[in-house]
Amino acid sequence: MARPDPRATAPCPCGGLEYATCCGRFIAGAEVPATAEQLMRSRYSAYVRQDAAYLRDTWADATRPATLDFDDAPQWLGLQVKAHVQRDDTHAEVEFVARYKVAGRAHRLHERSRFERGSDGRWRYVDGDLFE
Ligand SMILES: [Zn+2]
Repeated sequence: MARPDPRATAPCPCGGLEYATCCGRFIAGAEVPATAEQLMRSRYSAYVRQDAAYLRDTWADATRPATLDFDDAPQWLGLQVKAHVQRDDTHAEVEFVARYKVAGRAHRLHERSRFERGSDGRWRYVDGDLFE
């Protein structure tokens, strides 16, 4: 008898109820995020899971880093999406606060990220402005 995959019912790092039905389906490549907010959440979850391939794949050509490593990666604690603004069909912004810990101290990353939708219909991260 097949047992349920424990990962399938684990909570999503971005705050969703289930990883598999929240960000997991995007990171696994089964579905494409329909909105910039879904993409942003899945990228946060990919940072938590240190999935460099997904992060590079969802980065705009113009701003994508050549390499991505997690040597100095903080411990991510949680994500709060503050606002999602759709500028037009192919441009959107997502404001969020991500909490993380470095050497036992808690910090906040408050950013407004810009996203673009390519001719293939996929949203990609372009860049962002920090609030503090
Ligand atoms: Zn999620």
